Amino acid sequence: MKKVLIIGGGIIGQFSAYYLGKSGNEVAIVDDGPNLSPASEGNCGLVTPSHIIPLNSFSAILQGIKWLGKKDAPLKIKPQLDRRFILWFLNFMRYSKRGYVEKAIQARHSLLQQSFNLYESFFEKEPNSSEWRKGGLLYACKSAKSLKSFDHEIELHKKFNMQSRALSKEEILTLEPCLRNDIEGGVLMEMDGWLNPKQLLQDLKSINESNGVKYVRGKVKSFGTENSRVVSVLTENDELRADEFVLAAGAVSPLLAKQLNIELPVIPGKGYNITTKNGQSFPLKLPVYMIEKKVVATPWNTGFRVGSTMEFAGYNLNLTSSRLDALKKAAGEYLKIDIDEFEMKPWTGWRPMKDDGIPIIEKSKVKNLTIATGHSMVGLSMAPATGYLVNELVGG
Ligand SMILES: Cc1cc2nc3c(=O)[nH]c(=O)nc-3n(C[C@H](O)[C@H](O)[C@H](O)COP(=O)(O)OP(=O)(O)OC[C@H]3O[C@@H](n4cnc5c(N)ncnc54)[C@H](O)[C@@H]3O)c2cc1C
Repeated sequence: MKKVLIIGGGIIGQFSAYYLGKSGNEVAIVDDGPNLSPASEGNCGLVTPSHIIPLNSFSAILQGIKWLGKKDAPLKIKPQLDRRFILWFLNFMRYSKRGYVEKAIQARHSLLQQSFNLYESFFEKEPNSSEWRKGGLLYACKSAKSLKSFDHEIELHKKFNMQSRALSKEEILTLEPCLRNDIEGGVLMEMDGWLNPKQLLQDLKSINESNGVKYVRGKVKSFGTENSRVVSVLTENDELRADEFVLAAGAVSPLLAKQLNIELPVIPGKGYNITTKNGQSFPLKLPVYMIEKKVVATPWNTGFRVGSTMEFAGYNLNLTSSRLDALKKAAGEYLKIDIDEFEMKPWTGWRPMKDDGIPIIEKSKVKNLTIATGHSMVGLSMAPATGYLVNELVGG
């Protein structure tokens, strides 16, 4: 049995605690509470084995350049003279070459598929108050060009024995009557599921606590080291000691790792959502990805969320009104909804964006420090397999 301290109580830290706790370790999680707006709470709740292709592509780069200066564009890049940011973008371009993308697809498929299987067994054993549901994710396309752009992905899914299929206008409107009629068609990713992420975090906390995991409130400021090992982390109020440490602080991880001379190729990718305040829902049968706007609408019995967009603008958590308006506008263009009838709460937070689309799940050069971050846009979807691997790494 080892004494393990996990830095960060987002979905990656919590699933790590889940498997480490089940293996009989003495586990604690230190987290700064809601102050840092964890991505794990504000994401769109999609669990997507389908998302095997990384963001890396020359067309994404070109699109980003075209959208420079457009306030409500789905992808916004604020040029920065920051060494880490520049290096990240150069590597992002390098990893857009075919060989790297193929490697990323293999790695992502393994993590995504294994996570989906682990979610299934998790929800068989544990409470399902986070509304875990299967049945698919629907991509709605307004143009024939967008619809056609899925041909490659659908073929790729076949190679991995996954079901996705193109839908005609009639088929998609029958499947999802809440869509507006001016839709060209869509794609159904039959292998995907969804849940309420905030509720899942709460459930995991209760389950972990009942397995003996301790939760400590505090912002990690620095590390205590001895003989090239970490011996403690220091918060404003405490010195927390352990045998093994796991760094799972999402987009903040590189700032903490730097103190130990570890460079992590991860930068914050800011996302937004608006969520119904009072549990009011909207009768979508499936989550809908509005492809031209890169916006997702996710329905739960207990609420409704419209989210996404990507902004590379450094570590700021300002709620930009043009980006929130873009979410509302997209919903109105694709769904038979009057969004102004809903009382919605805005949110923003950082995805931990890795340069090659493959997360970091490994022992660092500091031997008793395991790193689990860089899950980019699919951290919820990859969390159980990540936690499972973290447990194996810590256990040796
Ligand atoms: C708008 C949006 C939509 C998304 N949609 C999806 C989706 O549908 N499906 C999907 O799979 N993924 C989605 N993602 C991505 C996913 O949410 C992230 O990849 C994932 O949540 C990352 O989890 P994490 O635990 O690494 O980081 P986080 O959730 O950010 O957690 C990190 C934790 O570390 C804590 N922390 C940070 N620094 C310190 C410190 N110094 N001391 C103490 N604690 C600290 C923070 O408080 C936080 O709780 C989305 C993300 C966004 C922003």
